[in-house]
Amino acid sequence: MTGLKKAFIIATGTELLLGSTIDTNSDFIARRLMEAGVKVIGRIIVGDQKEEIFAAFALGAQLADIIISSGGLGPTKDDLTKETACEFMQVKPEVVEEEVTRIRDFFARRHKPMPENNIKQAMFPREAIILANNSGTAPGMYLYKDQKTIIVLPGPPREMKKMFLEEAEPLLKEKLNLTGKKAVSRVIKVFGPGESQVEEMIKDVMDDPQGCSFALLASDGEIHVRITAEGEDQQASQRLLDGLTEKIKADMGAYIYGYDEDALVSVVAGLLRDKGLTLAVAESCTGGYLSKTITDLPGSSAYFWGGAITYSNEAKNKLIGVNDQTIRDFGAVSEETAREMAAGIKKTAGSDIAIAITGIAGPEGGTDTKPVGLVYIALFSDEKQKVYKLHFNSHREGNRILAVKSALDIVRRYLCEK
Ligand code: AMP
Ligand code: MG
Repeated sequence: MTGLKKAFIIATGTELLLGSTIDTNSDFIARRLMEAGVKVIGRIIVGDQKEEIFAAFALGAQLADIIISSGGLGPTKDDLTKETACEFMQVKPEVVEEEVTRIRDFFARRHKPMPENNIKQAMFPREAIILANNSGTAPGMYLYKDQKTIIVLPGPPREMKKMFLEEAEPLLKEKLNLTGKKAVSRVIKVFGPGESQVEEMIKDVMDDPQGCSFALLASDGEIHVRITAEGEDQQASQRLLDGLTEKIKADMGAYIYGYDEDALVSVVAGLLRDKGLTLAVAESCTGGYLSKTITDLPGSSAYFWGGAITYSNEAKNKLIGVNDQTIRDFGAVSEETAREMAAGIKKTAGSDIAIAITGIAGPEGGTDTKPVGLVYIALFSDEKQKVYKLHFNSHREGNRILAVKSALDIVRRYLCEK
């Protein structure tokens, strides 16, 4: 990460500290800076107190080349950001007559006299470049001194964005010779193996990262591997990233279900659609969760027949023809019941593929031989009939989510092999 300019972002306003207003300004600024090839190394929110604002600028100047603040440019006494920034940079604000005229005109157009308080919005140090505010009274400030660039922007998001895009960003690009984004990143999504297994599988790549950085993130049975490549320019970064992705693909194969914005369900949906196949489901312990997940996607009627929520033994029997004797002999949570559920819903639906889920979500209902988290998932198609016995170690909600994702992954793998 050499050569990149570093930035520190400050949001001022007691309402932001208290959480009554969300600091969206800093998110916007951070994203724009990243696109411009600036590395954001820190962010802070401080209240409207002078000492805190001063300390924020001091921290920013210690850590970064560029310090950008938003908020606190209003006309009242608690609006202190610009004054404090000037004090920190040891420059002195003075009245700028053109700005006084501009603010007077702003009020005149609204048929109001300018309150004297507003004069402070027309005060800038000689060294600064004034950033025009075409939608409010508070101009912003761009100041370069002692190798630090300070940019002070207003708080209202609409004013801040306009000023950043039209005034601050072009100045930054021009004065600091920013060449645009260099780093590119990609998220590789894996379902099945745990974090340490993934790490083990891609050990060769992680041991020789070729200047890329890795982050592994685990949630709900998925592992997301984020690779960030930073080459000489964006094309070089992209080449690095593509090269490493190919190696990881070779290491992990079918464990990878997708990239970036992909979700298991959208990948399965795409495969069903491409192959022109239909799916029906019979759900017990997931109580419709799988159907809900599938139908969250618009257009799912093209490949999803529907299904049955067969929570009770009676529903399993009456709706999809599971034999009472099967349930008596093997239990509702068993390979045999899962098999009959899948066969039953497939017959009713006439679908190409059927999935059945039966398990013990918990917290009650587990036994030594059938503990909480035991789930059977059956996949039936014309050429394949298979029951998977899985065991999850989560709480009720977690076990249900894992059952749904596992079912989707079983369909995905079946469709990929087909
Ligand atoms: P100020 O310029 O500090 O008087 O802020 C004016 C208004 O802009 C505040 O009342 C907030 O609603 C909004 N605002 C200020 N800072 C932020 C921020 N960082 N993110 C989103 N809104 C903000
Ligand atoms: Mg404020």
